[in-house]
Parts: sequence; C-alpha cells; structure tokens
Amino acid sequence: MNTSIQIGKVMGIPIKIHISFLLVLILFPVIFSREPTTGFANVEQDPLRYALSLILTLLLFLCVALHELGHSWVARRYGITIKSITLIIFGGIAAMDEVPRNPDAELRISLAGPGVSLVIGVFCAIVYLILHNIAQASQTSVISDVSHLLWSLATINIMLFGFNLIPAFPMDGGRVVRAWYAQRMPYLRATRKAVHLGKMIAILMGVFGLFASIWLLFIAFFIYIGASEEEKFTEASVTLEGVKVNDLMTRDVAYVTDDMTILELLQVMFGKKHRAYPVIDHFTREVVGMVAFADVQSVPMDKHNSVLVRDVMTTDIKSIFDDADAVDALKMISIHRIGHLLVKNRITGAVTGIISRTDLTRSIEVLGYSER
Ligand SMILES: [Zn+2]
Repeated sequence: MNTSIQIGKVMGIPIKIHISFLLVLILFPVIFSREPTTGFANVEQDPLRYALSLILTLLLFLCVALHELGHSWVARRYGITIKSITLIIFGGIAAMDEVPRNPDAELRISLAGPGVSLVIGVFCAIVYLILHNIAQASQTSVISDVSHLLWSLATINIMLFGFNLIPAFPMDGGRVVRAWYAQRMPYLRATRKAVHLGKMIAILMGVFGLFASIWLLFIAFFIYIGASEEEKFTEASVTLEGVKVNDLMTRDVAYVTDDMTILELLQVMFGKKHRAYPVIDHFTREVVGMVAFADVQSVPMDKHNSVLVRDVMTTDIKSIFDDADAVDALKMISIHRIGHLLVKNRITGAVTGIISRTDLTRSIEVLGYSER
C-alpha cells in the first residue's frame, strides 16, 4: 500500500507526506493551543489561537523539510541520488542511495541538516528580538503574536539542532561520531565504536527517563534499537562488499511440480537436502512458486497424502540477477520478510540458482569473523 502522498518537488526531489502526518495536523495544533511557552495558550480569542497553532505546526514541518533538504543538498554534491523526502510523525526522512564510505562526505552530509536548523533558529531569534521590541513600543497585538510565533520557531529549530546532534544512531550525531572515528580507523570498527557510544547514551537516558519522563524512556528505546540496526546493516554491507549473488547461491536447483503430494515432496527433500525448491506447473513447466521445509511443517501427518505442493507453496516469489550484489539480496530478503530469492541470469532470464537468508547470514558470520 502506498502510505505517502507527494505534495511537491524541490531541487527535483519529490517531497512526500506520510499518512501519519494527518495525525500531526490534528495533534500538534491541539498541543500548541494549550501550551503557554512554545504554544499559544495565552492568546484569548479561540479562532486566533487555533489558527496560530496550525500555522506553527505547518511551519515546524517546513523547517523539518528544510533540515532534510540541507542533508540532501550536500549529499548531492557528493554525487548521491536522493529519491525522496518524506515527512512522518516524528520528523523527516531523506531516502538516499547508500552513503559512500567516505568519512569526509558522511561528516559534511550529517552536519548539513543540523546546520540548517541552527541557521533558521538563530534567524528567527533575531527577527523575534526586533519584533518584540517594536511590539512592546507600539502595543500592537498582531506584531506581538507574530513575534511569539518566531520565538516558538526559534526554540523548535534550536531543539531540532540539539536533538539531532545527540551522538547516537539513528541521529545525525551518531553519523558524525562514526565519521570522526572512520577518519582514524577502518569503517566497521568506527561503526562499532559509534554504536557502542550510542547504546551507552541510550542506557543513561533510559535510566534517567525512568525517574524523569516517560518520553525520555521512549526516545532512549528508539535510540538503542536504531544503534543496533545500524551496526547490523553496516556489518552486512561491509563484509559482503564485492561479494555477488553468484558467489553465495546454491546452483544445483531441484524443481518439484505443483501437483506433487506432501509425501512425495518430503521424499525429494530428504534426498536432496536443499533449503528451498522452485515449484513448476506440471503442464506449462513455468515456475509458479517456491516451497521450503517450513511450509510443510504445518501439514498434519495424516494429510501428507492428500495435501498438494500447490496448497502450501509461496506464490509471491521474488527474484534477483546472479551478478547483483549480495548485500542487495539481503536487503530484498529483509524488506519482504522472505527466506529465499530465485536467482536468474540477467541476459537469458533463466533460473540459475537460489539464494537463502541462511546463505547470506552464514557468510556474514564467516567473512565478518576475520575482521574482528
Ligand atoms: Zn538530520
């Protein structure tokens, strides 16, 4: 399902809003209308209070989009393609191709977003100070409302700046730390060091959050998970660097037909001992599915003679070309939550093998071991 709507294009980059953003449009104005410091709880007229709160919400997300555009602008100068920027409930996500393992590039790209937030924050603070003085002198409520709006924007942008520089993944600060280490040691070790620091910060925040605020506990949890994910992903992409699907796939593919019974299938499985089998249509000989031992386990013993392969097979089969990068196979397997990919030849389109999650994770373990 497509959960994002494109609202426009900036620098050729599609800007999208996620459906969770609709919740923000209701929730944030309510929060801002009740909050006296960053919000407008002190504005007496109801319509004005809600209007200002809604404007602040929209401007807040404009600032988040500008933060992401900051990252994107610098990333593009390093030749990285930015597919889109999506605004979600917690902020923005810039979907870009993998950042090359160039510490200088990563450092600059990571700092660009918080840099934009800081500049907006300082700019709003200065305009606020000017307007605030005018408002006090002239006693005009319009100017005082606008100056309060600027004050809120200044606060929010400085918070965005600070929050994003927390030195932990998935925050920009985590990337800054990694880049700093990576200028001094191999990339994988730099990532592990940065992840370790991030986890320590998350634990400290969590312990503090237990006594101080449930929100802090929630953020700490989010950081801890983000740090672990980054470590796993980097480990996989570094250790699988240069490895092709070709190198890891099982070549000796055994086919089964869709009209075989489970009993017949099990006999093939015990003989071949493969992890997965492409299923072909008995008549057309075309691949119509994939079946693995896990699919059979749910069939009770007394049904082994009546249930057919086509009843238990997975029909949603994904395939990859044999000259593709192994890390891309891992990405596909993780995104689609599947166990195997069918491997095809790029030119002929013929099936040349099967690659499984286990093939990939095992080689990460073996290859990664030598780097420890
Ligand atoms: Zn950022």
